Formats: sequence, C-alpha cells, structure tokens
Amino acid sequence: MKMTRERTGSMLILASGKPHRVTGVRKSVARRSGRESSAESWSVPGAPYASAVPAPATETRTGLVRRARKIDRVLGETYPDAKCELDFDDPFQLLVVTVLSAQTTDKRVNAVRPTLFAAYPDPKAMAAADRATLEGIIGPLGFFRAKTESLLKLSAALVADHGGQVPANLDDLVKLPGVGRKTANVVLGNAFGIPGITVDTHFGRLARRFGWTEETDPVKAEHAVGALFEKRDWTMLSHHLIWHGRRVCHKQKPACGACTVAKWCPSYGEGPTDPEVAAKLVKTEGRA
Ligand code: SF4
Repeated sequence: MKMTRERTGSMLILASGKPHRVTGVRKSVARRSGRESSAESWSVPGAPYASAVPAPATETRTGLVRRARKIDRVLGETYPDAKCELDFDDPFQLLVVTVLSAQTTDKRVNAVRPTLFAAYPDPKAMAAADRATLEGIIGPLGFFRAKTESLLKLSAALVADHGGQVPANLDDLVKLPGVGRKTANVVLGNAFGIPGITVDTHFGRLARRFGWTEETDPVKAEHAVGALFEKRDWTMLSHHLIWHGRRVCHKQKPACGACTVAKWCPSYGEGPTDPEVAAKLVKTEGRA
C-alpha cells in the first residue's frame, strides 16, 4: 500500500488514487510524530521503543511484506500456543461448533460440545435429531432456533451430497447451508491442514491497523493479506491475529503500551501507550 504525500484536509491520497482518511488518535499521533511533514519514519514521542515503521509515503511493497512477516513472527513468539480455541475431535465437529460459535463465545460452545456430540456423533444422527431436543442442548448459545435449523440442514446436506463426510475443499464447503467462507477456511485450516485465512472481526481490524490492507470486505481483505505471506503460513497467521485481537489489540482501547508488535505497527497510539495503563487492558485468555 504505497501512499503519496499529497494531502487534502485530513485525507491522504493513496498511490491508487483512493482517498484515505486519517482519523482520531491516529491523526493526533501523526501530528505529534511529525509524520505529516516527514517521510522518514513514524517515530512517536514517548514511545518505549523506536518505531520501525516507515512513513506510508516511503514503504515499498517489499518493505510491507517484510514488516508483515516480522509482525507475524513476533506474534508467533508471543503466542506459541496459538490454535483454534474451539474444541473438536473431527472435521464434522469443527464444522458444527464453528457454525454454533456465531454470536457467542468459544467457551460456551466448548461447554455444550460433549453433550451435543454424545447425542449426535455424526451427520446422519444429527440430521435425524428431534428438533426440540437439539434446541434444548444448544439453548445456552442463543439464537437456538436458527442454529438448530442450520445444523439440521447442514447435516442433511452432508448426508445427501457427501456421503456423510465433510468435504475438504472450499467450493463444496461454501455450498453447504449456513457455511460461509470464514467457516470453510477454519475447517480447511484446522481439520484438514489446508492453509486458509480466517477473516473474522479481529483479523480484519488488525490487518487494517497494521496497514496491510484498507479493505473492509472480508474476501478482498483475505486476498490482499494472503498475497503478503507464504500460503503455508496462512492458518497460523489467522490464529496469531485473532489471539492478539482477543487479548491485546481490542476494538476499543487497544493495549498499545503492552503490545509486542508496537514497533512495527503504524496504529501505535490508538490505545493507551503508558505500560501500566495498557497492562490492565490485556486479557490473559481468549474469548470468555
Ligand atoms: S495494540 Fe496498538 S500497537 Fe499493538 S497492534 Fe494494536 S494498535 Fe498496533
């Protein structure tokens, strides 16, 4: 993402010709840092470290790729145990729990999983489930009527179209009822070992904060970010960003002063930079 230094009010004009609004704290950081008048660096007064982020005007594609991969490496060191936080024993379970995880927490889904799969261990059993009984099991997750409908249709489609097996390719997965690209990539990456980028709300937010893409459309963001990394790294990259988003780089008040990748983040300063204040914002676990 190469930017020109042309500026109209609070707008940067990207090399692509698209305007980019500099807003909120980020704008004030830019002003404090002198970024608007210097193309050398994004140094932020008071930062506990020298910024390694070049000014947008000067970051080349190669520089962007290197910075992106450095961030991923450091996040990998920060979260050596990063993995899918939903429990599962096989592709069918992962598909089901990922569908169930919409609008609720992984912890709640993990809590109902043993009962759910004890009653319905495979697509055939779940497709034949008594609706009221299934609703009762997944009731604690909310939206239980809609989710029950999804599971019944999903299981029936697996039985009818795939011999009761979860297909191991994106095209077939996204044709299943209630399965979108995000869910499909979770299943491919974590149950089949096929690299996939999972653009959830955390991934999209962090990719934009890192300056890797400006896309808000998940599919466009997936392609833009995917082009910065080796395909083999896509699944772990997804875990790294999601873990960091859940624990440190929150939507509201990111814990910038406690962030291990702050040095390479152009959004440093969107949240508190004071280490003591920031430390209090860090969550030690993922989704509660
Ligand atoms: S916490 Fe702050 S410095 Fe760290 S990635 Fe998020 S915005 Fe950037």
